[in-house]
Amino acid sequence: MQRVLFHSTIFGPIHSRRLGTSLGVNLSPNDGKVCTFDCLYCEAGYNAQGPGTTGLPSRAQVAQQLEAKLRQMKAEGQKLDVITFSGNGEPTAHPDFGGIIDDVIALRDKYFPAVKISVLSNSTQLGRPEVESALRRVDNNIVKLDSAIDSTIRVLDRPTSARFNADEVIRQIARFGPQCIVQTMILTGRDDNGNPVDNTTDTEIDALIDAYRRINPNEVMLYSIDRPTPARNLHKVSREELERIAERIRRAGIAVQVS
Ligand code: SF4
Repeated sequence: MQRVLFHSTIFGPIHSRRLGTSLGVNLSPNDGKVCTFDCLYCEAGYNAQGPGTTGLPSRAQVAQQLEAKLRQMKAEGQKLDVITFSGNGEPTAHPDFGGIIDDVIALRDKYFPAVKISVLSNSTQLGRPEVESALRRVDNNIVKLDSAIDSTIRVLDRPTSARFNADEVIRQIARFGPQCIVQTMILTGRDDNGNPVDNTTDTEIDALIDAYRRINPNEVMLYSIDRPTPARNLHKVSREELERIAERIRRAGIAVQVS
């Protein structure tokens, strides 16, 4: 099974297509995956691999390791554009997420005050007030919405909670309005059981446009598969097709970036 795990809490810096020179923060275990989704395309692999043995890093460990790395990068005159929460699972599921955000803001202000803080989240934890409030304190609050149709999300992103409800998540994202960037993975293909998945259809794009209108985000980011995925029958959508979809969304008055 395809899986590329980050084997540390602080990783990089790496060059990100979307964000520039990025230092990563992984709030999941270093040898396993913990996520509230189980996306067919997840680069960390399926949740079935298990959470590993190292457990979640503590708030103190994150702060210590990040400070050591920032101090070293500053001493060496290294360039940094952004500190990005991503990694082997869902960062906002960490029980100390709000406190960790406070620590990271303080360390950013101390060592690299011009650097942005980005959080890539899957939007499933937005109903927790401490998560919503922490995401309001970061520079780039990038939330996932791969489809506005519940049944599609159940095949494509495979939420681990049976209570997942796409409409409720869209309402929660909409509370941020321009304080969020919505990221949407566009792909076609089949899951491992042969069920079709295709969020390029007119029905899907119309539903997404309706959701984007309700959310009124700062921007929508469209992208497709870039690396091998755990589900073997997924297909990358071409740049031309992404641009065609982006143009439809732009005509609805929403800013879109294709990456
Ligand atoms: S939300 Fe992100 S980390 Fe979680 S399964 Fe999907 S791609 Fe992987």
